[in-house]
Amino acid sequence: MKDLTKYLTSAIAGIGLFVSVATAKAETLSGKVIDALTSQIMNSFPVALDRDTTLTDQNGNYNFDVPVGIHHLKISDNITDYFNYEEDINLTTDTQKNIYMIPVKPVDTRFYSDFLGKFKYMTKTDGSSHSGNTKIYWWRDEFLPIPVWYNEDQAIQIHDQDIAQKYFDGNDSAIREWENKSGIDLFQKVDENPTRGIKIDYSDSNSRVGMNFLEDKTPQNFILYISNTGYLYSLDKLRMVFEHELGHCVKIEHSPDPNDNMHQPALVDISQNEADIVRIIYTLPNFIDMSKYNSIKSRNAVKDWKKYE
Ligand SMILES: [Zn+2]
Repeated sequence: MKDLTKYLTSAIAGIGLFVSVATAKAETLSGKVIDALTSQIMNSFPVALDRDTTLTDQNGNYNFDVPVGIHHLKISDNITDYFNYEEDINLTTDTQKNIYMIPVKPVDTRFYSDFLGKFKYMTKTDGSSHSGNTKIYWWRDEFLPIPVWYNEDQAIQIHDQDIAQKYFDGNDSAIREWENKSGIDLFQKVDENPTRGIKIDYSDSNSRVGMNFLEDKTPQNFILYISNTGYLYSLDKLRMVFEHELGHCVKIEHSPDPNDNMHQPALVDISQNEADIVRIIYTLPNFIDMSKYNSIKSRNAVKDWKKYE
């Protein structure tokens, strides 16, 4: 359990502001506060609703009884280990709402002003994209682990058995690298071409990644083409290229930071920050609105990035 006692003083100061209003009908807004990276519940953590502040209990629960209507939920400016979270909630009935907190982490400030900026840039959750104006949707949790099919016959047809085997080994270790660093069971190797999942093709042309969407915006199928250019014969480099393409498959974009695997070209293994971005994506509820998370610094992140484009 994270030690949150340092938040107590400021939060208790806020409790004094609460004035109860007598109304005919009060509804309950309640839920848990959860660390989006570690999945740990957070106790003694201050949650503010309008001018009232309460602390979560030992099970991470907060609870407000308030009249129906619009209320402003906020995790306070006084928290420095996590990005602020705030949201207007139109309360019409008893409502359960868990709040997932994204931790502040160090990043290379030459490329991003903060971790949330890096997160927002690499997931394009603001709806913008340097490679097109499409909103990025990630795999919904009911589809995890994502089936991955290697088109082995094709690889063996195009290349000799040794080279083909190196592709499969590179694939295997890239999958392990993502899973080990993110701590999530992201992928599952399957024996047949899945109707929904990732299909890896091997070719002599350029490497490409494609995808289709179902109507509910769930990624249906990524088609990954891995090319047979000279540098791919090193198993280490093969692994890094597969890590990079699988990163796209789990919905993260290029990074300008050369310490990241998603930098182009991929010259290093997955960084812990990248793995944490993926972990947070797959820990948060589906399609969460990232605009509710904020920090003053992150507003400048994309602008900062343009300097290095
Ligand atoms: Zn790429």
